[in-house]
Amino acid sequence: MLEENYKKVQDNITEACIKSGRNPEEVTLIAVSKTKPLSDIETLINYGVTEFGENKAQELSEKFQNVSKPVNFHMIGHLQTNKIKYIIDKACLIHSVDSVHLAEAINKEAAKRNLIAYILIEVNIAHEESKFGITEDDLEDMLNKIKDYSNIRVKGLMTIAPFVENPEENRVYFRKMYQLLLDIKSKNIDNVHMDILSMGMTNDYIVAVEEGATMVRVGTGIFGERNYNR
Ligand SMILES: *Cc1c(COP(=O)(O)O)cnc(C)c1O
Repeated sequence: MLEENYKKVQDNITEACIKSGRNPEEVTLIAVSKTKPLSDIETLINYGVTEFGENKAQELSEKFQNVSKPVNFHMIGHLQTNKIKYIIDKACLIHSVDSVHLAEAINKEAAKRNLIAYILIEVNIAHEESKFGITEDDLEDMLNKIKDYSNIRVKGLMTIAPFVENPEENRVYFRKMYQLLLDIKSKNIDNVHMDILSMGMTNDYIVAVEEGATMVRVGTGIFGERNYNR
């Protein structure tokens, strides 16, 4: 079941790439396993999946330590500075960096452990009150402040688009994100590599891929509905 779901999503991504003239190898599917048991992750690992997404620091840490084979865990949820220590040596990429303060704290923790932390900057592209992320107007300023943090590498941008019935409504935001990525790339800021564009979830990943996403984060479409009261 999980394998079939995963394959279906991967097939849709491939199709969206072909339709939009992109190479399917440019897009990485992240299986968002938050709230789901380790057994579900193991099923997909046996199927060959290596990229998983979690939104809570302790949950990521626990799953990282308990999986049977080393796989990549992406930190995709809001991160508090006091939780950095749980994931700094476990998350392959932190997608949700939304302040200079958080970047500074990640840099400090990474330096302490003598490692490099790979991060994305979360942009609140639709300016939703309920969402984390910085606005596009603050992005360059933020990057100029964090470019000197030597234990951090900025790899790109991430966004969580609005929850909409019709994914077409988000096309405008995905397009804006892609433009923003190109824009920042052209500025050649030291230590800032705009290679990754993390956008698109179960409801809208196909549109996101058509508009240039290089990482999509799909939970429900692979694992089924989540039960937060478990
Ligand atoms: C939960 C979550 C997802 C996956 O959401 P689905 O709609 O279940 O695909 C993607 N990104 C982030 C940041 C999330 O928290």
